[in-house]
Amino acid sequence: MKSNLKNRFIGLTVGLAWFLGTFILLRLSAKYLEFNKLFFGEFIGLLLILLAMTIVLGWQSLGMFGGSFFFILSSLTSSIISWGTGLMRYQINILFYLAVWLGLYFYYKNIRTLTRNVSIKLDEVSTKKNILLKEIKRHALLTESSNKKISRYFSLKELMENLSFTLLLDEIGTVVVEAAFKIIGKSDTCLLFLINKETHQLALLASKTADFFIKIKSKKGDIFDNWVLKQRQGLLVLDAKKDFRFSLEETEYQRDFRSIIASPIFSEDKTIGVLRLDTTHPESYSPDDLRLLNIISNLVAISIQNALLYSETEQLAIKDGLTGLFVKRYFMERYEEEYNRAVRSNYTLSAMMIDIDHFKDYNDKFGHTAGDIVLKRVAAILGSVVREEDLIARYGGEEFILALPKINSDEVLIIAEKLRSIMESETFLLRREKTNVTISIGVATFPTDVRGKEDLLRASDICLLKAKREGRNRVCAA
Ligand code: GH3
Ligand code: MG
Ligand code: MG
Repeated sequence: MKSNLKNRFIGLTVGLAWFLGTFILLRLSAKYLEFNKLFFGEFIGLLLILLAMTIVLGWQSLGMFGGSFFFILSSLTSSIISWGTGLMRYQINILFYLAVWLGLYFYYKNIRTLTRNVSIKLDEVSTKKNILLKEIKRHALLTESSNKKISRYFSLKELMENLSFTLLLDEIGTVVVEAAFKIIGKSDTCLLFLINKETHQLALLASKTADFFIKIKSKKGDIFDNWVLKQRQGLLVLDAKKDFRFSLEETEYQRDFRSIIASPIFSEDKTIGVLRLDTTHPESYSPDDLRLLNIISNLVAISIQNALLYSETEQLAIKDGLTGLFVKRYFMERYEEEYNRAVRSNYTLSAMMIDIDHFKDYNDKFGHTAGDIVLKRVAAILGSVVREEDLIARYGGEEFILALPKINSDEVLIIAEKLRSIMESETFLLRREKTNVTISIGVATFPTDVRGKEDLLRASDICLLKAKREGRNRVCAA
């Protein structure tokens, strides 16, 4: 600002000095050149045009003030020259300067108006630009949310397709947890619980964790899952440590989690399970996430229901309705597999044929229903004694068969004797009368006693007959 003023001052001083110098020079020239009119006239003409140019330059550099200043100065010079030379025609130049001044005045005025108009237009354009930018931003957000919705829709479609490929409950469980984990995102764990029909408790069907090495230790539902089960509604916990509805001392807080969403799975009107997601970060889920989880739960409910029905039907086909043990047909299928495995892997396989002694008498004495109760109890006792890998089936009316892999002829005798003695000491209350039930057992072992899968069963059957013949309530080995 200061240097600008300084420049103006220097400009004006130089201009003034230039005119004064010129004027003095002219006066002197006129005097000493004895007034050579022709030369002087040409010279002055040129000078006066230069003066007009100073108005232009003055206006350009100093604005209206500079233009006016040089206009007055030029007019004065012109008047002085006119007066000094006695040639009045130079006065006319004042009009020329005035024209230049006015020209510049209107020119700059127009420029200013134009500039103002342009700046107004620029403002309008910039306002419009801002509005458009906001619109673009809004559209971008809309597009983003639409894309999200579309991608979620496709994930849900993919989930339904995957569910349609299988009827096996375990596979469905895996598909569901994978999908919920992917669709909702931002989770460390996804758990799918189903109600166990016998215990009426939530039991873990499938799980998915962000970290492969994190294992879900508890196979039961915790306080949060049971809340969903009881309330029959979705649960959103922003921070498990601060939620007044739950006291964490009550739950097995085995994993570190802070945010939870969980949704009930309904079949018809009953809650059959809970689908739950959690993460170690607090305030991770929104009500929108819970809504989406509810949608997933509703979608998968039908598939889970179908898989449960399928599994029940399958169980009905392979399990005996009264005792819950395998039926003979299924036993024979599995027995063949077991036998082949024993041959292939070169290990022993023992068979045990069991028949209740004088069972007809129980039926006759206590009735058929009481006989059924005895059958059920005997089956339960047998089932509780055998190992997971043993096969046990109801072979006929009150006959049971067992296949015991990797059990040799000595071991099978011990197990059979144990079963016999347990049965003998077990008291049955039939029609308010205490009674005992005994069993006879025939055992045989492959490859010690026999070779061939039919032979093994036949041998144990023969041994059973032998046990009966020898007086019942005993074990006979091949
Ligand atoms: P033992 O074996 O000691 O020679 O005599 P037992 O009286 O047990 O003779 P057997 O094994 O031949 O008799 C089978 C009886 O089991 C005949 C039938 O009344 C009865 N039974 C078979 N299936 C059922 C059933 O599902 N329920 C009931 N209550 N009884 C059954
Ligand atoms: Mg019998
Ligand atoms: Mg029998």
